[in-house]
Amino acid sequence: MKTEDHSDVVVYFDNQYVPLRDAKVSILTHALHYGTGVFDGIRGYWDERQEQLFLVRPMEHFRRWKANSGILRIGIAPDASELCAIAVELIRRNRFHSHVYVRPLAYKSAERIGVNPDDRDAFSVIVVPFGDYLDSRRGLHAGVVSWRRIEDNAIPGRAKICGSYVNSALAGDEARRNGFDEAIFLTEAGHVAEGATCNIFLVRGGKLVTPPGSENILEGITRNCVMELAHNELHMEVVERPVDRSELYLADEIFFTGTAVELAPVTQVDHRAVGSGAIGPVAAELRFLYLEATRGHLANYRHWLLPAYDLAPAEAAEPERVMAGAGDGDLWGV
Ligand code: PMP
Repeated sequence: MKTEDHSDVVVYFDNQYVPLRDAKVSILTHALHYGTGVFDGIRGYWDERQEQLFLVRPMEHFRRWKANSGILRIGIAPDASELCAIAVELIRRNRFHSHVYVRPLAYKSAERIGVNPDDRDAFSVIVVPFGDYLDSRRGLHAGVVSWRRIEDNAIPGRAKICGSYVNSALAGDEARRNGFDEAIFLTEAGHVAEGATCNIFLVRGGKLVTPPGSENILEGITRNCVMELAHNELHMEVVERPVDRSELYLADEIFFTGTAVELAPVTQVDHRAVGSGAIGPVAAELRFLYLEATRGHLANYRHWLLPAYDLAPAEAAEPERVMAGAGDGDLWGV
């Protein structure tokens, strides 16, 4: 996230809309000491031509966040539709006309010493302007790091638990200090898991290959989008299976996916060229499709998007079509 001063930005905190500078927690907060929080990350893309800001799959993100919070027994009262309404309200109140990042955060809020959690929970939703996270236009250099991906039976990696991001921070730091753009985690069993903050795909023998949920990955929503695009638009077979480290060196293409990284092609891994050493055709095509879809340019994927501002009358007349597949069906009007 960028380091600009966001203190005037209005955020949702303690069930109220307040400026970020007033959204403060105590130094004794349980989550600060013990990592007992759960977060998510949602992108919103501003499309100049349509003068619209599209949130990308917010229902899925908010549902994942609520479900993951349940793993830590943190309760979040609003349902996914109500949480979408809060995100939209924040965008409108802040009059954002730029790409944004939505950060929901739920946490154990008791102010006391002691690891055992109680039932004091709180949550916040923050929206800030957000640009590129990694420069995904060029090929990245990725490196396998010495840290292993955290095991499901230690801290579940499929939940975005605050404390488990120490694992990602250590991996990302090691990779960058060693001159790489991004880390690749192996599991304790030696299989490829994912990047520090993103999922990984390989192209091998014309198939798209990615590690399954059981390899301690976060089951990414961008991963899901890209699998759908590869199947529908490129008619590629998509295979979820364990991936050996050596396959990284034999792959025709490799790329990362994630809300922040979007789709980032990898052209070097552990100082070896991936395929030809240039961005491959599958990564290039899927990246193009993903960026077009998330800006509201592809009608077939418009149901991924929630427009934050009022729609033009022609589109507003067809709410079912625009939001078809969004899930609860009660989103319209947020
Ligand atoms: N893996 C990890 C560890 C992540 O932090 C993220 C970012 N949320 C991802 C994968 C990608 O998930 P998503 O596409 O849902 O953002």
